[in-house]
Amino acid sequence: MNLHEYQGKEMLASYGVAIQRGIVARTASQAVDAAMKLSKDTGTKWHVIKAQIHAGGRGKGGGVKLAKNLEDLRAISEQIIGMMLITPQTPPEGKKVNQVLVAEDVYYPGPSEPSEYYMSILLNRSIGKNMVMYSTEGGMDIEAVAEQTPHLIFTEEIDPSLGLLPFQARKIAFNLGLSGPAFKDMTKFVSALYKAYLGSDASLFEINPVLKTSDDKIIAVDAKVTLDDNGLFRNKELEVLRDLSEENPVEVEAREAGLNYVDLDGNVGCMVNGAGLAMATMDLIKQAGGDPANFLDVGGTADAARVELAFRLILRDPDVEAILINIFGGIVRCDRVAQGIVDAYKNLGDAIQVPIIVRLQGTNADTAKQLIDNSGLNVLSATAFQEAADKVQEAIT
Ligand code: GDP
Ligand code: MN
Repeated sequence: MNLHEYQGKEMLASYGVAIQRGIVARTASQAVDAAMKLSKDTGTKWHVIKAQIHAGGRGKGGGVKLAKNLEDLRAISEQIIGMMLITPQTPPEGKKVNQVLVAEDVYYPGPSEPSEYYMSILLNRSIGKNMVMYSTEGGMDIEAVAEQTPHLIFTEEIDPSLGLLPFQARKIAFNLGLSGPAFKDMTKFVSALYKAYLGSDASLFEINPVLKTSDDKIIAVDAKVTLDDNGLFRNKELEVLRDLSEENPVEVEAREAGLNYVDLDGNVGCMVNGAGLAMATMDLIKQAGGDPANFLDVGGTADAARVELAFRLILRDPDVEAILINIFGGIVRCDRVAQGIVDAYKNLGDAIQVPIIVRLQGTNADTAKQLIDNSGLNVLSATAFQEAADKVQEAIT
């Protein structure tokens, strides 16, 4: 699950991470009120208006703008709220902006020039550890830095049993070329950031830029936060931050029904019980020359209602040319699942225009096969894995 920048920043602040302060607004007048309040609370003269969408590169796409007075601020907010913002990370048509973050201007003049750094924390699966990635080359083009000058990106691996140690925080501040109060501030920043990463069960933090202000303070100006869905049950206050308008509607509906559904690009829909079997089934489809259109784990109780919903979800995808149902009857009996498939099929009437291949294996598989074969529906049954693959191949060629 991804957070919006403003939500990510609020969460970071609750762990003591210094941030660029801001207030979210859904209309231009709310934005003006927010700006006046911010000026009162922080003393800021200027404000930045930042589109809140789940995609980066907003600055380049015109979704981050500086306002030097309230009149400009209102005009800019009017322009950004409701716009389709196109960035290198959005779909080609862009993403609709429903709200903006009105933030204090933190690039104010002072004794030194402001500097932008890059910092992320993520799980490195190949070493089984979290790591901090950071660079002096922060700002808007970290992808180009990674490509052209990868030696300017540092990494610090974190031992899970020890956590981020003080010497590591100092090493990071040192490698970023900091000294004096900014050095000390950076060590505090990194430590608090890591605490927030662990505490929120995140799988990715990307703070770009981390800013050294002209008066040597270290703060998060941007925040990309991805949380591990499996940890949300112990972070209820974060779970409620999910923005459904940013998510795939079919996946949202599936989640609400307790189905595990992930949308993919292929032409063969699949309906499977158990995540492991679902993975194996996707391999099977590949082998048969197809491409899975989705991952779908219907779970243990593949009854008629769930099967029907699963059919409906899969059939929303116009690319689907065939559906493979692969169910192992361990706890559920195959004949019950078969009856569920037949009932669901009948309920759906004309909605199903593509061939369906059903492989049922396990308890009462034979009865199940008979039930399918005698149903008179356009459903092909199979018992062996290979047989199912062959029938899928036939169906899509
Ligand atoms: P992104 O483009 O989606 O990554 O959005 P960011 O939050 O990183 O903002 C993009 C750019 O806006 C930053 O790299 C800054 O250069 C600029 N920016 C952000 N906050 C301020 C601010 O307070 N004042 C000024 N002048 N520029 C800002
Ligand atoms: Mn950024």
